[in-house]
Amino acid sequence: MQRTDNHPDSYYVVTAKEMVEYPKLEGAERADVCVIGGGFTGVSAALNLAEKGFDVVLLEAERMGYGASGRCGGLIGSGQRKDVLEMEHLYGLEQSRVLWAFAEAAKEEIRGRVAKHDIQCDLQKGQLVGVHKRSYCDWPEELADALAERYDYPHCRALNASEAREMVATPTFLGGLWDAEAMVLHPLNYVLGLARAASEAGVRIYENSRVRWYTRRDPAEVKTRHGSVQASFVVLACNGYLGKLERRVAGKIMPINNFMIATEPLGEGRCNELISGRFGVHDTRFVVNYFRLSDDHRLLFGGGENYRPGFPRDIENFVRPYMLRIFPQLADARIDYDWGGTLSVTVNRMPHFGRLRPNVYFAQGYSGHGISTASFAGKVIAEAIAGTAERFDVMAGIPIHTFPGGTLLRYPGMVLGMTYYSIIDRL
Ligand SMILES: Cc1cc2nc3c(=O)[nH]c(=O)nc-3n(C[C@H](O)[C@H](O)[C@H](O)COP(=O)(O)OP(=O)(O)OC[C@H]3O[C@@H](n4cnc5c(N)ncnc54)[C@H](O)[C@@H]3O)c2cc1C
Repeated sequence: MQRTDNHPDSYYVVTAKEMVEYPKLEGAERADVCVIGGGFTGVSAALNLAEKGFDVVLLEAERMGYGASGRCGGLIGSGQRKDVLEMEHLYGLEQSRVLWAFAEAAKEEIRGRVAKHDIQCDLQKGQLVGVHKRSYCDWPEELADALAERYDYPHCRALNASEAREMVATPTFLGGLWDAEAMVLHPLNYVLGLARAASEAGVRIYENSRVRWYTRRDPAEVKTRHGSVQASFVVLACNGYLGKLERRVAGKIMPINNFMIATEPLGEGRCNELISGRFGVHDTRFVVNYFRLSDDHRLLFGGGENYRPGFPRDIENFVRPYMLRIFPQLADARIDYDWGGTLSVTVNRMPHFGRLRPNVYFAQGYSGHGISTASFAGKVIAEAIAGTAERFDVMAGIPIHTFPGGTLLRYPGMVLGMTYYSIIDRL
């Protein structure tokens, strides 16, 4: 039987396909690159580096996919976390096109990896964004037009309320945006499949090997309780789980907790009445609701956040009201699994890439848009370490402000900010 200790008791863990146990780091090792963190960012960096001929050690504090990557909604949206209308406003058309192209490359990286390594992660196409507010009703058409005209992306279509509700049986959708080339997958199976590919490519993966500190010299010394790695490059891929490992980037992100539930199997017929396919769905709320059907006919639903260390004691009853607001018809559905995870957001919700020294790279703060951006981050960190930093440097050039109050006082400020936005959501 596969060991699932350390992992939460989630639907993903119960349906994991490649839960391999990797050893703990013991003793001293040398490598070209030491990657810290076994989520999408770290595994993608390690795999891409190994394919370029680097000798790589990956250290994961718990188990591979233990963090947000093994717990998330699985929705792979097109573009960056901000849509192109907002990005054009902030950065201009040219820069917005560059960032859009990167996001498309990120989707291609995922599709390519799943095919190349035959990762059984239930990758499906399609995503519907449900509009929850009258004042947003023009947005789908504006965005679909902009994407078709200025980004050569003809795959989005605006939906009116009845079209949206035909696809998703919720009274809350007043319209929608259909994106035929967005995707959805089983995130834990995807990250475990990538880990298997990385291991086959020669990456030495160690689990239960928390990094306690590292030196900023060249080569760097990376230290765990029972071992150490001397490496020419270090990649920090800890995101919301960074803790105090690197204070110089911690103040740029806010760890926040997000929660999911999985219903009992509802049966094919009832599922088809809820959602007309296996695509991903989310709404336009700031505190977003996101959901999809699983291949064993459950509803996997994410909703609700908190902004302090620690999860609510009763996650099921924390998330369930969000689900019932979208699908009141599920009042009788039993909840079989509930779990939470920690992601990180930045002040402007754009990702934070950079170098702390010429040999220390990091990427974090994907702000809920991490499956594609983190996969891309790993790829471009590998490119940069191999000497082609063009794409990495564009991402690293996006300005990211420090949270007011730094790591000490960021939580109260965030609670105030998020309370404001959740009130706006409801108005
Ligand atoms: C509930 C939830 C739902 C989400 N839904 C979506 C979604 O639908 N679509 C989407 O695009 N994004 C979603 N996200 C965000 C997405 O999951 C993350 O942005 C992404 O997984 C980040 O990947 P990562 O590899 O950077 O970080 P993580 O997956 O969090 O990995 C970081 C790893 O670093 C390890 N680590 C930390 N410190 C150390 C140390 N000192 N030594 C060694 N290892 C260490 C941790 O144990 C962890 O495994 C969601 C997140 C959550 C929590």
